[in-house]
Amino acid sequence: MNREKVMDRDDACLMHTYARSPVVIERGEGMVARDASGKTYLDFTSGIGVNSLGFADPEWVRAVAGQAAMVQHTSNLYYTAPCGRLARRLCQRTGLDRVFFANSGAEANEGAIKCARKYSADHYGEGRSRVVSLANSFHGRTLATLTATGQDAFHHDFGPFPEDFVYVPAGDPDALAAAAGDGRTCAVLMELVQGEGGVVALDPDYVHQVAEFCAARDILLIVDEVQTGVGRTGTFLACENYHLRPDIVTLAKGLGGGLPIGAVVAGEKAAAGMGPGSHGSTFGGNPVVCAGACVVVDRMDEEFLRNVQDQAAALWPALRALPHVVGVTGLGLMIGIQFEPGLRAADVRAACERRGLLVLTAKDRLRLLPPLILTRADAEKAVSILRKVLQGF
Ligand SMILES: *Cc1c(COP(=O)(O)O)cnc(C)c1O
Repeated sequence: MNREKVMDRDDACLMHTYARSPVVIERGEGMVARDASGKTYLDFTSGIGVNSLGFADPEWVRAVAGQAAMVQHTSNLYYTAPCGRLARRLCQRTGLDRVFFANSGAEANEGAIKCARKYSADHYGEGRSRVVSLANSFHGRTLATLTATGQDAFHHDFGPFPEDFVYVPAGDPDALAAAAGDGRTCAVLMELVQGEGGVVALDPDYVHQVAEFCAARDILLIVDEVQTGVGRTGTFLACENYHLRPDIVTLAKGLGGGLPIGAVVAGEKAAAGMGPGSHGSTFGGNPVVCAGACVVVDRMDEEFLRNVQDQAAALWPALRALPHVVGVTGLGLMIGIQFEPGLRAADVRAACERRGLLVLTAKDRLRLLPPLILTRADAEKAVSILRKVLQGF
C-alpha cells in the first residue's frame, strides 16, 4: 500500500490527536527505519525512547515470537514464568522489593499514586492524600496523571480533575516545604530529567533535599523513570546517577524494547498494603511482553551501559559545537538541544527528516533519544546531517 493511501486512511478513520510527519515506516533494522519506497532514515527517536535495542533485535524477536507461539496471554488469574523472571531482574537491578506490571507509563504512575495513597490510608487514616509534583513535569494522559502533570497546556477542557494534586517549582525546597509540610501529603512525584518539559535535568542538591524532606515526614518519594529508566541515562536507573533510593520507581517506555509495558517497582514499605483486589490489570505482566523485556534488561550489562556513557560523552561536545546551538541539556542519551532565539526546533526537526534523520522536539528544544545500541559511526552520521541542516538556517 502506498504512502498516500496509508496516510489518507488514518486521516479518515483515526481521531486527530497527533500532529504527524508524512513518513510511513514499513520496516526497521537496528538504527535504520525504511519506508515502502526504500527511503531510509537514521532513527534518533527510538519511538520516543521505546526501542532501546533498535528495530528488530534478533534475540528480542526470537524471545517475543517464541513466547507468542507458546502462550500469548493467560490473565493474572494464572501463573506464567516470564513476568516473575522480569520482576526478579527488576528487583535485583533497582534494589527495590516488589513489582506491579501495567501497560504504559501513565498506568505505572497511576499504580504508584495508588500505592502511596494506600500506604498513607493504612498508616495515617484519612486526609493525607495529597500528591505533590513539579511544575513543567509530565506524568501521563490519564486523568490522575494528567492532573499530576505540571503543565497547564495539557489540562484545558478536561476537568474536573481528581482532587489533592499540587505543583511546586523545581529547585525550590521552600516551596516544597510550604506545599507538603502540613502533614496532609502522601507522596512527592518527580522526574529526575524532565523529558517532555524540555529535557531538563534536576539539580542533584535539590533532589537530595527533597528526599530528606520526604524521609523526615514519611512522605513516599516516587521517581517517574518512564523516560529516564532502563539505561537511557547511562545507568540502569537515572536514580543511580543521583545516588537516590526512592520508595517507588515507575518504568515503561524503554523497558519493553517496543512492546507496551509499565512497571511500578516499590520497596516493601510501599508495596505491603497492596493486597488482593487492591489493584489489577488484564494485560499487565503479559508473557510475550515480559519475555521481550527480559532480553532488554539482560542486555544492559556493564559493557552495554558503558557504551551508552561513551557515546553520550562523545556526542554532547559534538552537538555543542554545531551552528546556532546555545546549549545541550539532559543526561546520557536523553538529549535536548537549545538553539539561538528565533530558530524553531520544529523547523530543524522537519529539515532533518527530509535529509533522512528522525529526531524529536520537546518544548522549544530538539530532542534526541537514539536507541541505546548507538555506535560512534551512527552518532557521527547524525551530527553530520544536523550540521548540514543547521548550516541551512
Ligand atoms: C512518556 C511518559 C509518561 C507517559 O507514558 P505513556 O506510556 O505514554 O502513558 C509518563 N511519564 C514520563 C516521564 C514520560 O516520559
